[in-house]
Amino acid sequence: MTGFTESEERQELRREVARLASSYGREYFTKAARAGEKSTELWLAIGKAGYLGINIPEEYGGGGGGIGDIAAVCEELAAQGCPLLMMVVSPAICGTVISRFGTDEQKQRWLPGLCDGTATMAFAITEPDAGTNSHNITTTARRDGSGWILKGQKIFISGVDEAANVLVVARTEDARTGKLKPCLFVVPTDAAGFSFTPIPMEIVSPERQFQVFIDGVRLPADSLVGDQEADAGAGLQQLFAGLNPERIMAASFSTGLARYALDKAVAYVKEREVWGQPVGAHQGLAHPLAQSKIEIELARLMTQKAAALVDAGDDAAAGEAANMAKYAAAEAACDAADRAVQAHGGNGITQEYGVAGLLVAARAGRIAPVSREMILNFVGMHSLGLPKSY
Ligand SMILES: Cc1cc2nc3c(=O)[nH]c(=O)nc-3n(C[C@H](O)[C@H](O)[C@H](O)COP(=O)(O)OP(=O)(O)OC[C@H]3O[C@@H](n4cnc5c(N)ncnc54)[C@H](O)[C@@H]3O)c2cc1C
Repeated sequence: MTGFTESEERQELRREVARLASSYGREYFTKAARAGEKSTELWLAIGKAGYLGINIPEEYGGGGGGIGDIAAVCEELAAQGCPLLMMVVSPAICGTVISRFGTDEQKQRWLPGLCDGTATMAFAITEPDAGTNSHNITTTARRDGSGWILKGQKIFISGVDEAANVLVVARTEDARTGKLKPCLFVVPTDAAGFSFTPIPMEIVSPERQFQVFIDGVRLPADSLVGDQEADAGAGLQQLFAGLNPERIMAASFSTGLARYALDKAVAYVKEREVWGQPVGAHQGLAHPLAQSKIEIELARLMTQKAAALVDAGDDAAAGEAANMAKYAAAEAACDAADRAVQAHGGNGITQEYGVAGLLVAARAGRIAPVSREMILNFVGMHSLGLPKSY
């Protein structure tokens, strides 16, 4: 980033991704979703073009770029009506954690498949009873000779049916202190004892969410990412490394979706006439759309700032910016989707115009991967110095 604009290279990347995504477009996406089909063709096309692994080191099949690059890819896909949740998970969370903490052998094994899209990785932290409070997760990993046995349950896990592996957050007993601490394990989706069932969701998307059952899954020693014995906080540090990228990607998913909704609304209100002039001439419609334009641009700027901080290695400053970006982007997307529906009148609710279908996807951005309330808790505590409220 130079000053307040992205580099020419980044802008060109955006144009290229937009071109590829527009050749698929919203119709491809919704048609697949409604037919219960996958968006694998698009996923593999992004992989083939080198965009899926753009943030992964070159020696493992990636593009050697940063989070800012993969975030741009995610946003441009969504802006063409193809918001892909697995972009948040596979290249950004899993790719970052493995690139930073995996052994060379682990990187060789998992990263190339993440880059070309042939071995996507899901991410599983959420549990039915722990919910937002991930300190309370009960999925455990216990030693089994040199390997591990995993047992537990996860919920709302995206894309397990499309994934070759899942990066699972489980707790292990610290050999020295006896305390349970989080660790990350790569679990093949075809492992014995690993099963999943889809959760019927209202989101119009080919990507689905699943309940996951981990019933005594045996794993070799090198399924653990990072050094479990290094220190008691190692697993937590690895987990945190994935959080800023996750928030930046979620923000990009939302700003892209918001741009798509706004573009549709603007195109419609320029055409639709009921009082002898386009309905967009009425300030009652024009002002909310102008507000959305401002809110989206502000959220994009904060997202780019957060990504630039991550790519510069300033994780601490990036934490605040990534949370703020994710909050602002989700709010902008919810408002843009709602205003787009309103701008379309009755057509806003039809499948033909496909606008109402954006509402739930935009709404999900207020809940996942971290809720707006938890971001407000973070900002209250860390940015304002208020007492911890949870
Ligand atoms: C579409 C979608 C995809 C997802 N994909 C994945 C995935 O791939 N992997 C994965 O691990 N998880 C995934 N999730 C789960 C997601 O991260 C959780 O839904 C989210 O973290 C919220 O947890 P919860 O649903 O248990 O809500 P709960 O924890 O039950 O919270 C309910 C409400 O209470 C609020 N709340 C809770 N605690 C506080 C507090 N201290 N202060 C103020 N308010 C509070 C929350 O903000 C929320 O509004 C996905 C969820 C969705 C909707």
